[in-house]
Amino acid sequence: MTIQSISPVTGQVMESVETMSHAQADVALARADEIGPAWAKKTIDQRTALLARLGDGLRAGKETFAALITREMGKCIGEARAEIEKCAWLCDYYADTAAGFLADETIPTGAQRSYIHYQPLGCVLGIMPWNFPFWQVIRFASPAVTAGNTALLKHAPNVPNCARALEKLFLDAGYPVGVFQNLPVDVDAVSKLIEDDRVHAVTLTGSERAGSAVARQAGAALKKTVLELGGSDPFIVLDDADLDAAVKAAVNARFQANGQSCIAGKRFILDQRVAERFTERFKAAVESLELGDPMDPATRLGPMARKDLRDELHAQVEDALDKGARKVTGCEPVDGPGWFYRPSILADIRPGMRAWEEELFGPVASLITVANDDEALEVANASPYGLGGSLWTRDLQRGERLARQLESGGAYINTITKSDPRTPFGGIKRSGYGRELSYLGLREFVNIKTIWLA
Ligand code: NAP
Repeated sequence: MTIQSISPVTGQVMESVETMSHAQADVALARADEIGPAWAKKTIDQRTALLARLGDGLRAGKETFAALITREMGKCIGEARAEIEKCAWLCDYYADTAAGFLADETIPTGAQRSYIHYQPLGCVLGIMPWNFPFWQVIRFASPAVTAGNTALLKHAPNVPNCARALEKLFLDAGYPVGVFQNLPVDVDAVSKLIEDDRVHAVTLTGSERAGSAVARQAGAALKKTVLELGGSDPFIVLDDADLDAAVKAAVNARFQANGQSCIAGKRFILDQRVAERFTERFKAAVESLELGDPMDPATRLGPMARKDLRDELHAQVEDALDKGARKVTGCEPVDGPGWFYRPSILADIRPGMRAWEEELFGPVASLITVANDDEALEVANASPYGLGGSLWTRDLQRGERLARQLESGGAYINTITKSDPRTPFGGIKRSGYGRELSYLGLREFVNIKTIWLA
């Protein structure tokens, strides 16, 4: 079978790539299985030294990798460069901290000695999406291999060259063959990998649908999973917010990665005392976003990654408009080649509309006006998702009180929801479970073993 890499800018096929057969995937798995014990026996210093080199490799190849990202999934080139820099930061961070995070930990019990010892699990299969095609992979794989596991990557089919480049990056940094492998396989082969005894854990970043299917299979095989799924994050603007800062951040939050970020602000929940002023300024800022070729550094908004994603987004928008939502701006695809969608704002979103219940994974902001803080919280939490959330107020105590009550894996006051290697990242509810990043992410794929000397 082949998978096609299609340019989001032109809609033309750029390349056809052969998928790996079941037999080829089996060879890769055998390779991981063979190198696994030797890799697990390396010292943490040997493994972090390679991780530091991986970070250097990312920095050295920044322009090439960024161009690959932009070409395959359409993100603006400046954002693609920032993605690579962030990957290198993550490598530096764990290169500096992993030895401490994985060191034995004494637990006072009255025994002569009792402590926690962290050991690798074996082989971790990572199933990844295309929207941050380097970051999502480095985020799962670098801590997993640093903890002594091997990693297999099943990447999204529309970023085959990013996936290949990632495998080469690990090899060029000096990782032994088999520690990190790219497996361009179809979903059918993924099921077989999950069932295989040589795979010990699975992590998926992607949609709720994929997460649920993979968790079902991994559950049947009694394998640990981490799921980083979709989100419909609230962006709450209280009546005392700094509106200039909030509007600027709102544009960034919603339209980063051409609107295709799991932690994008998606539902803008506005206190009625500032709703009109915020909407006016937000509309002006959104209308100034120029659509264009994402390779051009002047472009602020590129195309969506695939045609089917654009069609789905537009169906969600039409559903809202049919049911009484108001178009503030945009709300339609752009005629012509490529998968461009106008930067859009929908107001008066209500329960019963797809835009209220579902994730809008594209450049469309939903506005909801509320009477007060309590209603803002109620609306924010009236979502099946719980990934992040952003709150804007000059009163930090007020912001913190609401932040603590948000049903989400993270809450950010006077800044947008963002991942940071130093803090844990992940969701609750239908946004998934488990955590990536920080010491908690590093310890997701380890055997947390108790050693007790009586
Ligand atoms: P997707 O369709 O779920 O695909 C993600 C990955 O899962 C792809 O590699 C896909 O491969 C694979 N996959 C899909 N169905 C599968 C199945 N039944 N068994 C095994 N693998 C399967 O998601 P997407 O459209 O690429 O990404 C967008 C979604 O990801 C959004 O919902 C977004 O919010 C979420 N996301 C979450 C985070 C986070 O950190 N929480 C980060 C980024 C994105 P195929 O394409 O070959 O099916």
